[in-house]
Amino acid sequence: MNMKKQIDILIKLQQIETEMISINSNMNNLPERLNALDEKLESFEKKIKDEESLSNELKKEYRAYESEIQLKDNSIEKVGEKLRAVKTNKEYQSLLKEEEQLRRNKSLIEDKMIECLDKLEEVTKVAAERRSEYLNFSEHVNKEKESIKKEFELKKGKLSQLESDWKNFSQKIAPELLKKFILVKSQVSGIAIAPVKDAVCQGCNMNIPAQLYNELHRFDTLNFCPHCQRIIYWKDC
Ligand SMILES: [Zn+2]
Repeated sequence: MNMKKQIDILIKLQQIETEMISINSNMNNLPERLNALDEKLESFEKKIKDEESLSNELKKEYRAYESEIQLKDNSIEKVGEKLRAVKTNKEYQSLLKEEEQLRRNKSLIEDKMIECLDKLEEVTKVAAERRSEYLNFSEHVNKEKESIKKEFELKKGKLSQLESDWKNFSQKIAPELLKKFILVKSQVSGIAIAPVKDAVCQGCNMNIPAQLYNELHRFDTLNFCPHCQRIIYWKDC
């Protein structure tokens, strides 16, 4: 196989590797994207739990007021009994005051009960809206997760296809050429072979000496950029 064809294969190998790197970095993002979705779902669930516990607290508070009202009613009833059996006016006046105080306290508790009910109504409304939002959101998250998993499988398939392409192409060129390609790749950052356009190496953007540039046109040997050491080849456009 002539050098031009072998260089074409090196270019192909480089393209395959570049694509594999891009797919790999893309695949590395997928678990993060899945985690981010789970975290959003969890924070949503936490809000719902917080609202539920607030609602439970309010219900407890309301029940405590009910017991207090019960106690006040009992006391008012007792005062009423005493009033019916009262002997002196002084006693009568003091019991009346006591009864008045009890009714005032009871009314304060009733105000708190109304306030508590208002809050409970608001929390219940918000919680119901949140639950319905949650249903929509979790449906969206599940779809998204499904599509991320599919994407992952597709990319995995594509990667193994590229791996086998790489193997096939690499077997077509002279082993020492492949060795050189792999060596250069380990010495430079990733890209081992770069085109030269208008006498400029596209790997490092430096000018190639005129004599070397002329040699590139012939495609008869493997040439290297004197600046970045990459394998270089001539490209006319
Ligand atoms: Zn260069």
